[in-house]
Amino acid sequence: MSRIAYVNGRYLPHRTAAVHIEDRGYQFADGVYEVVPVQRGRLIDEDLHLDRLEFSLGELEIAPPMERRALQLVLREVLRRNGVARGILYLQVTRGVAPRDHKFPLVARPSLVITAKRLKPVPAKYLEEGVGVITLPDLRWKRCDIKTIALLPNVLGKQRAVEEGAYEAWQIDPEGMVTEGTSTNAWIVTKDRKIVTRPLGHEILPGVTRRALLDLLRTTDLTLEERSFALSEAMEAAEAFLTSSSVFLLPITRIDGEPIASGRPGDFAKRLRQLYVDHAERQAGSV
Ligand code: PLP
Repeated sequence: MSRIAYVNGRYLPHRTAAVHIEDRGYQFADGVYEVVPVQRGRLIDEDLHLDRLEFSLGELEIAPPMERRALQLVLREVLRRNGVARGILYLQVTRGVAPRDHKFPLVARPSLVITAKRLKPVPAKYLEEGVGVITLPDLRWKRCDIKTIALLPNVLGKQRAVEEGAYEAWQIDPEGMVTEGTSTNAWIVTKDRKIVTRPLGHEILPGVTRRALLDLLRTTDLTLEERSFALSEAMEAAEAFLTSSSVFLLPITRIDGEPIASGRPGDFAKRLRQLYVDHAERQAGSV
């Protein structure tokens, strides 16, 4: 099935779909995006993603391109036309097309682009052996809670990670505390079995997978601490893992080349991944 993209009201062949060169997303990274996981053809945690989209748009004073209900219909149509069973929906809203000038244009309609992509299952090796992260200074701006398309530090960080044979780069704030990965939230499990992740604030993206996992964890007897943790604490942790919409949860077994505890994925990562997978499967309607 050939891929179809939605661009400002039209469903176009993916290979020819385009926006204007004076789109402010292209000129200024003046826009926001969302990535919604798709499981068995269903959107997972759709409301949380659309809430975050509205938050990001609001913070940048970009008008929503359409009502939520209409957007939900378009999202489903893009999924249907692309026949995606397991993958992601990508949607991007920019301030629109206008002659290049930093200040907001007086008349510009927001641009909306939506694409769908199939994803292969997470490689078994990642689950059996875990993945490695490197660490880098966090070079980003002071509003990382807004999901903007301005991702240059994230791009450079991920590239560095790949060049060093790692999966992800953890970004470290000036106090030596871990903020998050370049496209994932960061977690550790302490030796006394507490699950720790940084609290929300301007320094991290409010990950939807993070939020869903926290809600799931609150239904268990596991101990949770939303607090910042230092890189030094992570190096001494019992386990570490990352979360995101596209991979759900992956165990981290190396930080800067050093093994975490035994250097093997731990029981928490396995159990919590399953907790999230079951949640996604429930929403997909298969259990
Ligand atoms: N942190 C950053 C910087 C991200 O870009 C992402 C996802 O793109 C995440 C965390 C994870 O967020 P989510 O769970 O909503 O995919």
